Amino acid sequence: MVKTALITGAARGIGAASARALHRDGFEVIINYNRSEAAALTLARELNARAIRADVSEKDQVKAMFDEAGRIDILINNAGIAHYGLFTDSDETLRRQIFSVNVEGAMNCCAFALPGMIAQKQGIIINISSVWGIYGASCEAVYSASKSAVTGLTLSLAKELGPSGIRVNCVAPGAIDTGMTAGFSDADKANLAEKTPLCRLGTALDVAELVSFLAQDRAAFITGQIIGVDGGFIG
Ligand code: NAP
Repeated sequence: MVKTALITGAARGIGAASARALHRDGFEVIINYNRSEAAALTLARELNARAIRADVSEKDQVKAMFDEAGRIDILINNAGIAHYGLFTDSDETLRRQIFSVNVEGAMNCCAFALPGMIAQKQGIIINISSVWGIYGASCEAVYSASKSAVTGLTLSLAKELGPSGIRVNCVAPGAIDTGMTAGFSDADKANLAEKTPLCRLGTALDVAELVSFLAQDRAAFITGQIIGVDGGFIG
């Protein structure tokens, strides 16, 4: 039976590369998007897939998305936002916004995906966190805190859901060349590449290859792991 993977934030970046990799590897994919409608519809045509709009931070929209999606075998919580700036310059609105997408968004999707997975006695959740959630980063305290929360969610859900046949893992990318890093200066990018033993930024496909592997039966005994795709990045 062809398995269905729902990928949040799949219109572009790591999400789009993951959708393409999963499609290539035989999965049916469902492309979630929020703002990037044109890109989502183009990718949906390319992959003969469904595209469903939902802001993952809005519980009602997430519920409607899962109602429309039907059976889900794999959930990939990829949607995320970042902010670069001093913690002392951040306000409560910004902090809430980052947590509402990166943390509550992932929890909303888990909440609506899990009843079906538990009933099926199988399922796979892959959360996209970040090396910054492990090592921390100056000027990314709020983002890093949100990604640490995603890590904690992963570790705990893996323990809670293993007996139900559900695997939960975390992919922690290093510096990846996507829209999220597009605003970085050349000097910033060179600095990140310098901190990366493989001497370059990663590509979205570098991350997507691990996402697809974790979604497959080849990864059947892997759960509760935080796996870096970071070129050996050291904090
Ligand atoms: P990106 O190119 O900026 O893409 C972000 C994606 O998140 C977009 O598809 C966007 O969808 C989606 N998104 C944002 N807010 C959303 C919301 N409220 N509801 C639904 N979707 C939403 O960034 P990326 O690099 O591919 O990031 C993907 C994931 O990897 C994120 O979780 C990010 O934190 C993580 N990550 C990235 C890096 C990196 O260096 N790039 C490093 C570590 C971790 P729309 O465009 O449709 O709004």
